[in-house]
Amino acid sequence: MLAFVKYGTQPFEAELRDIPRPEPEENDVLLSVAGCGVCGSDLHAYRAAAGYEWVKPPVTLGHEFAGTIVGTGGAVRHFKEGDRVAVVGIQGCGHCATCRAGDTNMCLDRKVIGLSMDGGMAAYAVVDAAYLVPIPDSVDLAMGALVEPISVAAHAMSKTVIRPGDRVVVSGPGPIGLFCGLIATLSGARVVMLGAGADAETRLPLARQLGFDVVNVASDPLNAALNTAFSGAAPDLWVEASGSPQAFTTAIEKVRRGGCIVIVGMYAQSFEWMPTMAVRAGLSLHFSYASVSCDYHFALNLIAEGLIDTAPFTNFFPLAEADAAFKAAIAGQTIKPVLVP
Ligand SMILES: [Zn+2]
Ligand SMILES: [Zn+2]
Repeated sequence: MLAFVKYGTQPFEAELRDIPRPEPEENDVLLSVAGCGVCGSDLHAYRAAAGYEWVKPPVTLGHEFAGTIVGTGGAVRHFKEGDRVAVVGIQGCGHCATCRAGDTNMCLDRKVIGLSMDGGMAAYAVVDAAYLVPIPDSVDLAMGALVEPISVAAHAMSKTVIRPGDRVVVSGPGPIGLFCGLIATLSGARVVMLGAGADAETRLPLARQLGFDVVNVASDPLNAALNTAFSGAAPDLWVEASGSPQAFTTAIEKVRRGGCIVIVGMYAQSFEWMPTMAVRAGLSLHFSYASVSCDYHFALNLIAEGLIDTAPFTNFFPLAEADAAFKAAIAGQTIKPVLVP
C-alpha cells in the first residue's frame, strides 16, 4: 500500500513508499483511511526540527485521520467492520497517575500515532480500539481529519469559562487559533484575531471570512484596533496560539486585571518576562497541550451540529501528492491540507 514515510533523521527525508499493509493485533482495528490532515507537528518532523529527535524513522506520518474499519483483532468488542471512526492521536499508558487523573495527553509513556508509531498518511492504518471515536453518518468521513485539531482547540478553551459578551483576543490564526476563536464566538464572546507576516496571505483573509475582527500586527496599530473592537475595554481572555514570545508578553500587558491567558502555542526559543506585573494584576495563566478523548467527542458534536464548518479550512490532496501538500503547508498557501488515499 502507499504510505508517506519519514525514513531518515535529516530534514526532508520523507517520501511515498509502497509498504506492506499492516495487520491488526488482538486489540487493534484495521482502518481504511478516508483522510489524514497535515499538522504543524508533521511539518516539524518532516523538517527534522529541534525537539523532534525522538521521532524514530522509518515511520508513516499522520495523526489527524478518520476512516472505516475493515478488520478487527480478536479481542475488539465495541467496534466492528464498517464502523466510521476518528483516531485519538495521543495514547497514554492508561495506568500511571497522570492517565488515571484523565490527563492521558501528558502521560510520560504516551505514544503519538504517526510520530512514535505508524500513522494515517497511508491507505490503511492499524489503531488500538481504545483510541477510536465514532463518527456519525452526517459527517463527511474525510472531514473527520479535522476532529483532532478542533479537539486541541476545545481542550485549550476548556481551561477557562467564557461568558456572553466577553472580549477575547486570539494571537496566531493557524487552525488551532481559528478554532479557539470560533469556540469563543459560539460561547457569545467578541473575538479579535491577531496575525503577522506570512499570516496575511491565507490565514488572516480566512479569519476575516469567518467573521472575526482581524489585526495584522505587522502593519496595524494594535492599541487602536483593540480600542475600536472592544470600545476601549481591555480583553478578558487572551488565547496565545502563535508561539511568538512577543505575543506572549503583549498578552500579559494587555489582558484586563484579573483576566486570563490560555497558552497553546509552541515556542521555539526561551525568552525573558517579568512575572511581578502578572502577579499584581492577578492574571490566570493556563497552559494547554493537545487533547484527550472527551475533547474529540466535543469537537465531533460541533461539526455534526453544523456549529463549525470545516470546509473553508480544508484543501484535499491525493496521498500520491503528499510532497506537494507538505510544501503548500510550509509555504502558508493552505490552512489544513488533508491527504486522501
Ligand atoms: Zn495535529
Ligand atoms: Zn500514563
